[in-house]
Amino acid sequence: MEIDVITLFPTMFEGVLNESILKIAQEKGRLQVRLHQLRDYSNDPHHKVDDRPYGGGPGMVIKPEPVFAALRDVEGRHPSIAKGRRLILSPQGRVLNDEFAQELSQEENLLLLCGRYEGFDERVHQGLDLEEVSVGDYVLSGGELAAMVVIDAVTRLLPGVLGNDQSIASESFHEGRLDFPQYTRPFDFEGRRVPDVLLSGNHERIRHWRENEAFRKTYEKRRDLVDFDSGGERNSEPTV
Ligand code: SAM
Repeated sequence: MEIDVITLFPTMFEGVLNESILKIAQEKGRLQVRLHQLRDYSNDPHHKVDDRPYGGGPGMVIKPEPVFAALRDVEGRHPSIAKGRRLILSPQGRVLNDEFAQELSQEENLLLLCGRYEGFDERVHQGLDLEEVSVGDYVLSGGELAAMVVIDAVTRLLPGVLGNDQSIASESFHEGRLDFPQYTRPFDFEGRRVPDVLLSGNHERIRHWRENEAFRKTYEKRRDLVDFDSGGERNSEPTV
């Protein structure tokens, strides 16, 4: 997957892209991220990209000219962007969840436009036909952290990125329920012991226990994910 990010703070991405899964994904050739500095597209002698809002009020608004110029230049240099999805980070957008991340992971190209200040001049939204994506119902200072959340959530779904693709299958939200509890050594930690079934070597019993525990956790913590009363994948309470 190729991801282009237009941002006023490209250096914010460096640490995140150079660690762990995202670093490995790039090394394996599954992910390429290109960062573009929005300020480079300003026609202001001081590279300003924002101005005061018409009608008054606090804060500054990102002007349309540098954004249109950035999009045109980046898309001109990388025509494959047209085949993918063009996203604008915004608290007013479709909220990212597992389903949305799965959808985005099917694309070969993503373009992410990060806002700052009071956001973008409305003509950016009107004229560029970008999909608004939110990472939740709260307001961040800028789109960079949100873009990194999108990149991380999508990259781990790309085939071959995680060591064992099976781990995605059991992860929370993947099949509309939370992940089952995990244990590692020691067997006994301060009197809390690993459930015997996990040491039984009986794969069918382990699978059944994990499935039941996953539904129990979902029932206890996120009942909204499964319709336990009717029509859900399992329509009865889990065995506790
Ligand atoms: N005035 C805007 C509003 O209330 O809708 C918020 C602007 S916010 C301070 C600045 C930028 O941060 C936004 O343009 C957007 O790119 C990003 N941002 C803030 N919260 C976000 C969220 N929940 N999801 C995605 N991006 C967000």
